[in-house]
Amino acid sequence: MSEADRERAKNNLAQGVCPRCHGKGVLARYVRTWDGGYRTDATCFKCDGTGEVRRQPRAAAPSAPPPPPTALLTVDTVALGQRVLRNPAHWRAGKWKDDRKQPGTVVGYTGTDGALVGVNSGSPHVYERISEASGAGWAVVLWDATRTMSVYPIGASGPLGDWWTQRGGGPCHSLLRLVDA
Ligand SMILES: [Zn+2]
Repeated sequence: MSEADRERAKNNLAQGVCPRCHGKGVLARYVRTWDGGYRTDATCFKCDGTGEVRRQPRAAAPSAPPPPPTALLTVDTVALGQRVLRNPAHWRAGKWKDDRKQPGTVVGYTGTDGALVGVNSGSPHVYERISEASGAGWAVVLWDATRTMSVYPIGASGPLGDWWTQRGGGPCHSLLRLVDA
């Protein structure tokens, strides 16, 4: 089959033209007789003589399970053991990948008074652990996928860095709590 033929066949198929009889609805048939035989037309078995084939509708992709119910994690709703996911709306893209898009567990937080409840992350990096500068509204999360801990704002107003200021500032909520977990 030449490149042109192949192209034509592809176009025909796209338009629903029968690939067997090329839209004619008939196929040549050779009939044998006692003195030899002759050619005749037979109804195309592929399209039943219509010259058209209906393209099979593509099977619907299996639907993904619905996302679990979540709500914003705030200082008022935080608790040790709370299961959480990242909040893409308040997540610094490219910086934090510890979660691998899997849930984690709150193991520490600072409440409205800024005091730490639970454990600190133990990270040597000041922006990845609760410090005196942190203030209220931070959570320490242990991620399932990587077993690493870091800290995330749950209503903190600072210190959040330029990335947050450039997005308008205000209280930052990096975490969603899994409502039924
Ligand atoms: Zn046909």
